[in-house]
Amino acid sequence: MKCRICGKKPIIYMPHHRLALCKEDFISWFERYTERTIKEFKMFSKEDKILVTVSGGKDSLALWFVLRKLGYEADGFYLHLGIGEYSERSKEKVEKFAQRLKAKLIVEDLKKEMGGIPLLKDITSREACSVCGLVKRYNFNKVARDYGYTVVATGHNLDDEASSLLSNVINWNIKYLGRKYPVLKEEEGFVRKVKPFCKFTEKETALYALLNGIDFIEEECPFSEDASSIFYKEILNRIEEKFPGTKLRFYLEYLRKVYPRFKEEGERDLQPCKVCGQPSPSEICPVCRLREKAVNYLHGHEA
Ligand code: SF4
Ligand code: ZN
Repeated sequence: MKCRICGKKPIIYMPHHRLALCKEDFISWFERYTERTIKEFKMFSKEDKILVTVSGGKDSLALWFVLRKLGYEADGFYLHLGIGEYSERSKEKVEKFAQRLKAKLIVEDLKKEMGGIPLLKDITSREACSVCGLVKRYNFNKVARDYGYTVVATGHNLDDEASSLLSNVINWNIKYLGRKYPVLKEEEGFVRKVKPFCKFTEKETALYALLNGIDFIEEECPFSEDASSIFYKEILNRIEEKFPGTKLRFYLEYLRKVYPRFKEEGERDLQPCKVCGQPSPSEICPVCRLREKAVNYLHGHEA
């Protein structure tokens, strides 16, 4: 096999694009493809102020890197989740990377505000990832609004998107099917949310990160073992092995054929939370209720 552009030895073959590329041509293809996805879904322009939510993992750091390389105004936001050493190490990686980029990084500490994810998991009957997802979405939007960003960008890749689509199809979660799109427009107190890496596989983002010397955290969050998303990713990878191209087709055909039919189902009735002012399905938003519970618990244990 040869690189399709220059004929040199390829570093990657992407069966879903029927494309083999060498190191240099993969890097420039990756960057052009990112730009194309941003334009295709009208995610943002050079006039937007973008907040990239960075976890220390390959996807979010690579996204921050590539957006700045493409000339976008993109700052980073790290939310310290209070997951022991894992959070400490990922914070270090993010801070070092911000220095390398000479970029602005906003850091907030969930542990100080309402205990970390382990505590929130224990005082609710929810799974760690479910409560984590809730507080992350809340904080991303809040910080973006507080600091005047017009767009929140996350590093979700094709494997993330296709696996969550699969699990929601299996459960026929119609509301979700009406909201799963690479760009969610600003509405009622929500800042626009975008996923510029939605068409890249995990392998592609990892390779791009490695080729650019991005020092990301390789260890997984200790709660990820319980995450059902890993199981769905494995299933999709097995299907992909047998029928290359299925993963990308599953996702893109959903965007083209299924999402438009369910769009209205995804609409929500929201009001500003009486405590924090963020959009909420009820008078007091789920995160303010959670915060109260956590603070009461922490005070009870101090006494
Ligand atoms: Fe949060 Fe779950 Fe991801 Fe850990 S694996 S960071 S708990 S969503
Ligand atoms: Zn609230």
